[in-house]
Amino acid sequence: MKNNSSNIETKLIHHAQEPDPSTGAVIPPIYQTSTYAQSAPGVHKGFEYSRTDNPTRRNLEQALAAIESGKECGCFASGMAAITTLMHTLSPGDHVICSDDVYGGTYRLFSKVMQPLGLTFDFVDFSSGVDEWTPFVGPNTKMIWIETPSNPMLKVIDLTATIAKAKQLGLCSVVDNTFASPYLQRPIELGADIVVHSTTKYLGGHSDVVGGALIYADPVQADKMRFLQNSIGAIPGPFDSWLTHRSLKTLSVRMQRHCDNAMEVASFLSTHKKVQSVIYPGLSSHPHHAIAKKQMKAFGGMISIYLNADLNKTKTFLSSLRIFTLAESLGGVESLIEHPAIMTHASLPPVERAKLGIGDSLVRLSVGIEHVQDLIEDLAQALQQI
Ligand code: PLP
Repeated sequence: MKNNSSNIETKLIHHAQEPDPSTGAVIPPIYQTSTYAQSAPGVHKGFEYSRTDNPTRRNLEQALAAIESGKECGCFASGMAAITTLMHTLSPGDHVICSDDVYGGTYRLFSKVMQPLGLTFDFVDFSSGVDEWTPFVGPNTKMIWIETPSNPMLKVIDLTATIAKAKQLGLCSVVDNTFASPYLQRPIELGADIVVHSTTKYLGGHSDVVGGALIYADPVQADKMRFLQNSIGAIPGPFDSWLTHRSLKTLSVRMQRHCDNAMEVASFLSTHKKVQSVIYPGLSSHPHHAIAKKQMKAFGGMISIYLNADLNKTKTFLSSLRIFTLAESLGGVESLIEHPAIMTHASLPPVERAKLGIGDSLVRLSVGIEHVQDLIEDLAQALQQI
């Protein structure tokens, strides 16, 4: 890259996006190809087969590595494909300590797919400090897995303290940075070994493409991931890679607007009598507000609320919204709302949901970038229905 700015806003737009040398096209073309001509057996221009490598995917990988301050990145067909591939770097008998409030699909993969294959897991509340999880470390512990802010309870984990402790204990630290995005926090700069993304969310940003990524601080550690990316083959196609890369360019402006809107929406909801409580790391009432302020540039676009309502009234509220769409997922430009117990976190056993506080009146909002007054009026009219 000619430009070597260290500012994320510039990197997002220019990294791995040099004009096409053969035509001058400002946007590199989509290399929609599965294979590459060789002039003699084994003699090629660096690409042999698109499961192994593809120029469009490679551009996205280089851009993601740069914006997360990592050295290597592998892209995958979904966030879960990325996480599954990463789990294959471990061996039967290895032990992982994982945040208790992880995405339901991650919990399901770990407990229902990886555990029967011989990995072992403990799910622990990392937001309570290092003393909460270090007693679980044993001779076979290899990795800690954290999500911050977490999904859907928006717990914030102190990255600096947690990663430092993991390093001292010789454990690999993995951070799922999907909710914050590298615009708000960059765990590798704080010492993390691996960052995970569901690029389906803020990085893709438009609810039109599913994808995932693993970003490594250490290129040598990344070799195993690269081998598994090719061997397992859960890769994204060129068009999905291009769409995701296209979206990265606006991440900084989208993210700032998500954060600004969410702050106003959270403030509005926290004064409403039909809302029992609001969980948003930007509010001083949030138990981890100080940590969020320390490690995040702003507080993100996700809000969870408990309504003063039973399940039926909660459903009425959700069906009454006109701008917020009732749908799973998050991080798109449009506002979404969902019921974690019935939707995104249905794969968690009821007892685990209850322990975390994922009950009938909990609702999760992904605040979009529409005019904030329209969002507030929409929520106000739906709250009036219950
Ligand atoms: N990690 C987090 C924090 C998520 O919210 C999700 C999906 O919602 C995933 C991982 C899985 O990503 P995907 O849906 O792209 O497979």
